[in-house]
Amino acid sequence: MKCAMLYAPGKLKIEEVEIPAVRKGEVLVEVRAALTCGTDIKTYQRGHPVLIKKYPSPFGHEFSGVISKVGSGVKRFTEGMRVVAANSAPCGQCYFCKKGYVNLCEDLRLLNGAYAQYIVVPERIVNKNLLEIPEHVSFKEAALSEPIACCLNAVCQSDISLGDTVAIIGLGPIGLILTHLYHLNGAKVIACGKGKERLELAKILGAEFTVNADEIHDKTEEIKAVKKLSNNDRGADIVVEAVGKTDTWEMAVKMVRRGGLVILFGGCPSGTSFNMDTSLIHYEQITIKGIFHYTPELFKRALDLISSGKINTKKIISGRLPLEKLEEAFSMVKQKVGVKYLIDPFYE
Ligand SMILES: [Zn+2]
Ligand SMILES: [Zn+2]
Repeated sequence: MKCAMLYAPGKLKIEEVEIPAVRKGEVLVEVRAALTCGTDIKTYQRGHPVLIKKYPSPFGHEFSGVISKVGSGVKRFTEGMRVVAANSAPCGQCYFCKKGYVNLCEDLRLLNGAYAQYIVVPERIVNKNLLEIPEHVSFKEAALSEPIACCLNAVCQSDISLGDTVAIIGLGPIGLILTHLYHLNGAKVIACGKGKERLELAKILGAEFTVNADEIHDKTEEIKAVKKLSNNDRGADIVVEAVGKTDTWEMAVKMVRRGGLVILFGGCPSGTSFNMDTSLIHYEQITIKGIFHYTPELFKRALDLISSGKINTKKIISGRLPLEKLEEAFSMVKQKVGVKYLIDPFYE
C-alpha cells in the first residue's frame, strides 16, 4: 500500500509498504478520506513528543473509510462497513478516567497513520471510539468528527447563554469550527484572525463581526476592537484562544469582561509560560479554562451533529488531493489558502 512516512521533521516520503496485519480485536480500514489538521502540520514541521515516538513514522489522524478486514473477536463491525475512528481511546481504569476526566486519561491509546491507503484500528479504539457512518453522510463529512469533537469540548464547557458575546482568536480550521459551533449555540461571535479568505469564511459560518488582525499591528488595538463590539466596551462574555501562542493567550485574558470566561484552546509548546495581571483573576474574577482533546461521548455527538445536517461542513474542506500532494496541502494551509484538505489515498 501507499503510505506517507515521516523520516525527520520536514522530511516526508510516500512509500510502498506492506498492508499491516490485523490481530485479535482490531479492524483494518481502507482510508477514503484523511483530513489535514494543524496538529499534523506541526508534527511534520517539528516532530511531536507524544505522537511520534520514533522515526520513520506514519502519521495523520482525522480519517474515515471502509472496513476491509476484521480481526478475531470483533463483533460489532463487519467487512464493508463505512466507519470513522477517533484518534484515541481512554483506558476507563485509571484515576482520571474514574474521576470522569476521560480526556485526561493517563493511558490514552493513540492512533496515527491516516495518510496511507490502509490503517489498523487498535482494539481499544474499536471498542470505544469506532462509529458506523450513517448512509447519507459522506466520508469527507464524517472525517470531521474528530476536530468537531475537540471544539464541542470547548462549547460544552462554556455555560453559554443565548446572545452571549464570544470572541474567537485565530481562524485556522479549529477557530472556524469554533466560530460555527458558538454561532449555532446562539452566541454573537466576534472572529479575530488573519487572511481575507478565512475572515470571509468566518462570516459565512456565523460570525457577526470580524476583526482583521492583518490590519492591526498592535495587540492593544485588537483588544480595543473586540471590547468595542462587546457589552459596551466591557469585554466579551467568553473569549476562546485558538492559536496556541503565549502572546495571544495574554491577549485573550484582556479581552474578557469582568466575571467572564477565557478558554485557552490552542496548546503552546511545553515549557512556555505567559504573563497576566493578577487583578484579573481576583478583582475582576475572570475564569480561565484549558481545553484539551475530547471524550468518546463528544466524538459520538460530533458525528450525530454532522449527520443531522446542522453543521455546514462544505466550507471547511477546501479540496481533494492525492497522497503525493500532502506536503503541498500543508504548505497551502500554512499560506492560508484553504482551510482543510481531504487527502484521498486512492485518488485517480
Ligand atoms: Zn486533528
Ligand atoms: Zn484512563
